[in-house]
Amino acid sequence: MRWLASFAVLVVALFAAPAESSAGNPRVVFPQRPERLRALRYHAEDSEQCLAELGVREVPFARGPKVPTIDTPVRLTGPLRGVVFEMHHPTVRHPKEGPVMDCRLLLALDDLATVVADRGVGRVRFNSIHRGRWVQRRGWRHAAGVAIDIVELVKTDGEVLNVLRDFEGHGVGSDTCGPDAAPVRRPKARALREVVCAVDALGSFNLILTPHYDRRHKDHLHLEVRRGIDWFLTQ
Ligand SMILES: [Zn+2]
Repeated sequence: MRWLASFAVLVVALFAAPAESSAGNPRVVFPQRPERLRALRYHAEDSEQCLAELGVREVPFARGPKVPTIDTPVRLTGPLRGVVFEMHHPTVRHPKEGPVMDCRLLLALDDLATVVADRGVGRVRFNSIHRGRWVQRRGWRHAAGVAIDIVELVKTDGEVLNVLRDFEGHGVGSDTCGPDAAPVRRPKARALREVVCAVDALGSFNLILTPHYDRRHKDHLHLEVRRGIDWFLTQ
């Protein structure tokens, strides 16, 4: 029966501990005052506070539609800080009315828009925001509408910074930001790295996963405002 027990452990490990929830990762940071960081502040807001903050920031949005797994569903209905967010997927079309997400993700995307606009980016192309109908935990991952997968950034002069082609990673397990991160050579790779590390410094997302995280992220940046955790991971 021992094989059965081992098999059961393996199955539990595969399904209960998805790679994106790795608080055991040595690069996980537990900030001194996490509640002062934006990602945690956003999740501490109730629906009305979050919607009010979108209004104060003059973010173009609409309420709804109702999605059982999304706490406060909203649609982004126009450019953020002049930056267009557009679906970039070979088969999936995104609704004309704009992508659906949780209100907290939209606050964080507004921060992201400021960072990329400062660096001459006019378009953020993503291939997923809300997907799936099953939430592992409330406020987690794509099903909760609190995560975006970014595949490329397009500068206003037309230059494209594509994650798969231009990230210039140093292999899974490498550091992305900070003193131990290996430098990158090409200007496009530097530009991508600068965006990631500037967003990391803002603390708007508590998870930023790049091609350095694992092979599944070789072609996109996963940015998430995950509820109920007080640690941050950028890798
Ligand atoms: Zn993702």
